[in-house]
Amino acid sequence: MKIVVLKFGGTSVGTITKIKKIAKIISNYSKKRYSVIVVSSAMSGVTNELIRKSKEISNNYSDAEYDVLVSSGEQVACSLIAGRLVHNGLKSRSWLAWQIPIFTHGPHKNSRINNIYKTKILKYLKSGGIPIIAGFQGINNEERLTTVGRGGSDASAIMLAKFFKARRCIIYTDVEGVFTTDPKKLINAKKIKVISYEEMLEMASLGSKVMQPVSIQDARLNRIDIEVKSSFTNKLGTLITKKSNIINNKIITGISSTNNDSKVTLVGVKDRPGVAASIFRPLSKNLINVDMVVQNISANGKETDLTFTIKTEDLNKTKKIIKENNDINFRKLLFEKGVSKISIVGVGMITTPGVTFKMFQALALKKINIKVISTSEIKISVLIDKKNTKKALIALHKEFKLNK
Ligand code: ASP
Ligand code: MG
Repeated sequence: MKIVVLKFGGTSVGTITKIKKIAKIISNYSKKRYSVIVVSSAMSGVTNELIRKSKEISNNYSDAEYDVLVSSGEQVACSLIAGRLVHNGLKSRSWLAWQIPIFTHGPHKNSRINNIYKTKILKYLKSGGIPIIAGFQGINNEERLTTVGRGGSDASAIMLAKFFKARRCIIYTDVEGVFTTDPKKLINAKKIKVISYEEMLEMASLGSKVMQPVSIQDARLNRIDIEVKSSFTNKLGTLITKKSNIINNKIITGISSTNNDSKVTLVGVKDRPGVAASIFRPLSKNLINVDMVVQNISANGKETDLTFTIKTEDLNKTKKIIKENNDINFRKLLFEKGVSKISIVGVGMITTPGVTFKMFQALALKKINIKVISTSEIKISVLIDKKNTKKALIALHKEFKLNK
């Protein structure tokens, strides 16, 4: 059996017209003698609307009920797709997670799929049926409904591809694929043909919202190739695969940027063990996401400066938490709004010397000042004034020849 998993995101099933259109994509695969497993998300906007209702009825809505409520959007979409395929003369039906079953573990709202029973679906595929499976949902070992995090139907598709050993796993969405940088910020952005899981993870966590980041981890751990493409055009998308499948002549694969960051500096903190922990403990307790962190070396061995970045929406809360924190002493507290983080990402930098220099020089030539630097094996990030974001994107895109 040649199995293909086709996943449709919310915008691809957002209206009746769009559902009719994707029904054609599905039947084309079926005509090519693929055994097709379809995974669908809820129609766009539906999940948000359900979450809104849960908040309206209670500011303390139970996590287990949340899962029952928000997973209902997928049921609607799946039934409509199956209904259209039947209308077109094909054999199809909807499958909810409990009917298969798809098992998950971990907490409600953020469970992970750990097992999928294959018998019923295999039998249905063998009989020529096209199963339309509700993404995003599962059941736990108490047979309660669970969900796998926002955007989680990507994870459903990847785990189905794993358990059914699919030849292909295609994620249909409203963009043509993964781009070298956000096409809304830079018209020169180019579609990336092939990208590694590691690069995709860096790009995804940096704000290229093409796929649910944890689902890319699932794909990486299980070595599932993913094709991301648009359901609205017929163009080739982006292949997400393992590093060794990529022959690349580029040092950098993509550039990402954040929008609304703020920088916080504590001047003159005591340089002794436990200080950093006592600064960040209350922030993490309050769910404030700290991004870049740099600590200066201490010139006199007694005091040091500590800088970190956060989302600007968390700035007031952060100020308050630090000021009220009696565990730490510092001489001065500095804040700066309106900064943005630009990161270049690429496995090519592991083997190419001088990438850091190239990046800094390209920014220097445009007179862009760098405030904070941080690096990982395949990523270099700099913090700059937000007003220079576009200028920096253009300069770096050109420097690393991403226009071609
Ligand atoms: N419908 C769910 C959500 O909006 C799952 C998904 O879209 O993948 O988060
Ligand atoms: Mg979605």
